[in-house]
Amino acid sequence: MTLIAPRPIGILGGTFDPIHYGHLRPALDLLEELELAEIRFVPCRIPAHRGTPQMTAEQRLTLVQLATDGQPGFITDDRELRREGLSYMFDTLVSLREDFGDEIPLCLIVGTDAFRELHTWHRWRELPKLAHIVVMQRPGLLKPLVPVLEAFTTPRLIYDRFALQRKPAGGILFQPVTQLNISATRIRALLARGQSPRYLLPEAVLAYIHAQALYR
Ligand code: ATP
Repeated sequence: MTLIAPRPIGILGGTFDPIHYGHLRPALDLLEELELAEIRFVPCRIPAHRGTPQMTAEQRLTLVQLATDGQPGFITDDRELRREGLSYMFDTLVSLREDFGDEIPLCLIVGTDAFRELHTWHRWRELPKLAHIVVMQRPGLLKPLVPVLEAFTTPRLIYDRFALQRKPAGGILFQPVTQLNISATRIRALLARGQSPRYLLPEAVLAYIHAQALYR
């Protein structure tokens, strides 16, 4: 009997206020380079670490659907919208484990900026029990991690996709991705000034933003 290692599932959580090419292109890099089975885009309902998003959770979910529609392997996952209270990634990973079981590798995908704040996340030390962490490098200076996060990261570092497949969880992989200096903050600022964010995000997303008169 040949044992084929299950391909890992990627989870990209975010506010997605709105989703843009800085999320989408690096996610496609990871899907292909790491040979993931799929990437689940998980918009948060109520973010734990920032102010209230400008769009409702339902609107942000719709934009994620519009942006990922038609890309094989990209899945929109609405589980955080179905949960009361603050949206904690810990709870999301527990719920994914309930759905997919303990064997399949899960990869929590974060940008470098989000990873640098990991030590402020709810039950952050337990995240490696549930998933690997894949860090997609964002443009900008690579500042050192705070000591507590550095000490957490170093013993868990892994260096390739095979290591992701060998265990269901526990490793931390820094993966180079296409460098796109795009942020939702800038897109909201452009729209608020009456300027165009075109070519920073999918046309279908922009059309919805205009149709709903969002971010004015
Ligand atoms: P905002 O500007 O409102 O803070 P954002 O553009 O950073 O938003 P989020 O929805 O907060 O978008 O990000 C979700 C995840 O995607 C985070 O892990 C973040 O680090 C990552 N990410 C966002 N933009 C990029 C980018 N341009 N390149 C790589 N990763 C990114």
